Amino acid sequence: MNYVSTRNKTIKITSSEAILQGLASDGGLFVPEDIPSAGLAEAELISMDQYELTSHVLSKLLDDLDIQAVSAAVENGYKGKFSSEDLTPVVGLGSDSVLELYHGPTSAFKDMALCILPHLIAASCRKNGVKKDILILTATSGDTGKAALAGFADAPQTKVMVFFPAGGVSDIQRLQMITQEGKNVCVCGINGNFDDAQRGVKNVFSNVKSENVELSSANSINIGRLAPQVAYYFKAYADLLRQKKIAWGDKINFVVPTGNFGNILAGYLAKRMGLPVGKLICASNKNDVLTEFISTGKYNRLRPFYQTASPSMDILVSSNLERLLYFASGCDDELVRQLMNDLNEKGSYKVSDELLATIKSDFLCGCASDEESLASIKKVWENFGYLMDPHTAVAYTVLEKIRESSDIPGHTVILSTASPYKFSGAMLEALGSSVPADGFESMEKLNDITKVPVPENLASLKDKKILHKDIINPDEIIPYVQRKAEEKIWVK
Ligand SMILES: *Cc1c(COP(=O)(O)O)cnc(C)c1O
Repeated sequence: MNYVSTRNKTIKITSSEAILQGLASDGGLFVPEDIPSAGLAEAELISMDQYELTSHVLSKLLDDLDIQAVSAAVENGYKGKFSSEDLTPVVGLGSDSVLELYHGPTSAFKDMALCILPHLIAASCRKNGVKKDILILTATSGDTGKAALAGFADAPQTKVMVFFPAGGVSDIQRLQMITQEGKNVCVCGINGNFDDAQRGVKNVFSNVKSENVELSSANSINIGRLAPQVAYYFKAYADLLRQKKIAWGDKINFVVPTGNFGNILAGYLAKRMGLPVGKLICASNKNDVLTEFISTGKYNRLRPFYQTASPSMDILVSSNLERLLYFASGCDDELVRQLMNDLNEKGSYKVSDELLATIKSDFLCGCASDEESLASIKKVWENFGYLMDPHTAVAYTVLEKIRESSDIPGHTVILSTASPYKFSGAMLEALGSSVPADGFESMEKLNDITKVPVPENLASLKDKKILHKDIINPDEIIPYVQRKAEEKIWVK
């Protein structure tokens, strides 16, 4: 199976090469030429544990890596790193379920992929005889950064560099990043928002060449990021079968709190690989660019940018939508190239009614304000004794709003993407408490009120030293990377 660029199908490489490159040379994203079938019967799906299931799904998508290498990547990536024995528990919430994806080492769903990615990169280097170091460039709206740093810290043959919006992440998210230890890590704030950081990083790929390092990305533009995320959709289905909430073949829906469209695209791939999925519900916060797109077919990034209580979703250019456009248009690379050109040059594009109808056959959408989401947190806590973070609350709220006007047939799973303790301030506000100025006091207060345990990795931040202090403007990213790429050793 080849991987091709969404903007030019004649650019063809293997899956391990796609992992190493991250982004295609023409700016497109790599996608499998044909989406493989997972080929799982009920008995097989139920009998596999999460390690086996993840390895199985990965080996379908990353078919030029041998299965032993893939299994080892999954095993080494996940073993001993999660706070719950079940890596991604599926718990009941009223008549729906919640898929908890935040029990990994940094308390965000990004861990699901970023624990594994360094091992996939190492395997891909071996497969392709790459001897240079790989420099992982990452733009983050808050959670990817820390998960990438934790995943890659001191990993062999790699360096990792993270750019985050200096004023656009939560206190705890910032501390998680700037206290990161490791000989091969670099963290830098940007005077700008996530889109500025992401654009800057994408530009590096076409502008920086180095003798010392090969550039790659830990953002969900990298197929090695996306592939492990496909697996937990299958795992959720298996859990629901085991819990007897559904029968084999029943279609289920997923509500996904969405920013860069990576998580929900993984759900789409799961569906195309054969998982019985009804609707994928794309939930946005006040930055409702995707709600408008899925409702009207017009994507318009020229709109106000809002900082919200769900900062990891504060995004106006959702990169992975490009992959959906490619698949939903029947692999029309020329169309994708033109749409992405329009997005770049005019700031917007519009798809045909036919393409929009195809997208709508798989997706529903909606958005929720901070007021609505925070009210949901309080309501769900009071009614069910369940604490959900502000991102998950956006998904919950959107599901409720859609149900006001139409029925969604089938069991529905809400993807929960972060620990509430990463956003203790917003949580306290939601629960009607005053918010201490200090992030750690907020954590303790939230713990006092709810008795939900604080994840160890967050509690221990308090004693960590601040190691990274650089803050630069978006237009300084290229020279910054250029300079850093030439430095052999980063630790002073
Ligand atoms: C990254 C993130 C999201 C958005 O996921 P995408 O794959 O970018 O759509 C949602 N919630 C949290 C907590 C995140 O960290």
